[in-house]
Amino acid sequence: SIVVTGATGNLGRLVVEGLLEKVPADQVVAVVRNEEKAADLAARGVRLAVADYNAPETFDSVFSAGDRVLLVSGNEFAKGRVAQHKVVLAAAKAAGVALLAYTSAPGTLTAALADDHRGTEAAILESGVTYTLLRNGWYNENYTENLAPVLEHGAVVQAAGEGRLSTASRADYAAAAVAVLSGEGHENKTYELGGDTAFGFAEYAAAVARATGKEIVYKAVPAETFKGILTGAGLPAPFAETLAGVDESIEKGELLVETGDLSRLTGRPTTPITESIAVALKG
Ligand code: NDP
Repeated sequence: SIVVTGATGNLGRLVVEGLLEKVPADQVVAVVRNEEKAADLAARGVRLAVADYNAPETFDSVFSAGDRVLLVSGNEFAKGRVAQHKVVLAAAKAAGVALLAYTSAPGTLTAALADDHRGTEAAILESGVTYTLLRNGWYNENYTENLAPVLEHGAVVQAAGEGRLSTASRADYAAAAVAVLSGEGHENKTYELGGDTAFGFAEYAAAVARATGKEIVYKAVPAETFKGILTGAGLPAPFAETLAGVDESIEKGELLVETGDLSRLTGRPTTPITESIAVALKG
């Protein structure tokens, strides 16, 4: 079987949908915390396994020998994601899976956010399981799903200076995962995944301006100011700190991915940010 964790998340859902175009539904297992959230997947014939990264015993019978597994990195920062991911890794190894693919972060990324990914990658390599590291770059949607304040203030506010980054849509990264899970020759490979075309936030602001007919400028602010703006908007301080750290990395070019791995894996150009802006504006 092909087993996908985080299957009711944004990325996992797209991966399951992509797999359903390639393999019969009964060969796909969606690992979910909440069965109700996955009722639509079950209705399409996908098998469900209920398990939680925080409860090792729930993974006891999720995997079988020969499975191909996608471990979607979790989003509970405070709970210790490396330990959570190790729970899945240990269960996968014990079952004798054929492949464990993991959604990581670009190898160039030094922001604190990347620490969990580096820790998980080390554990995977140490375990000896056959792996594929999908080092996902940033999502278009990280920006395009947060257009409300941009439109309200007529400004894209970031702390990334003139830095440029290579984003792609979640659907692009999902398609890469599908290619790895349903294809051949990806054993023990590390892919650096990102969009075909890099941009800076001035270009992004100009693209939003063109798409909306509004005046939108890029306002580059220092990291401290950025943190203040984010906490002022209600974000918890640690998360604001994390996002400011990411922008510092963007300024240094750490989210520029120029390998072409993503479009090569999916066999199609990546989704331009302009397209994701258009999708977001249509609501
Ligand atoms: P989502 O937040 O939509 O999905 C996260 C998934 O992880 C959900 O399905 C969630 O389950 C599952 N999950 C979280 N904690 C646990 C747990 N304890 N046990 C089992 N499952 C758990 O994120 P995306 O799908 O958009 O992105 C996937 C991952 O990529 C994120 O979790 C994060 O690690 C990373 N990410 C990458 C970004 C990038 O730009 N490259 C941006 C944002 C995140 P449930 O559905 O039950 O909530």
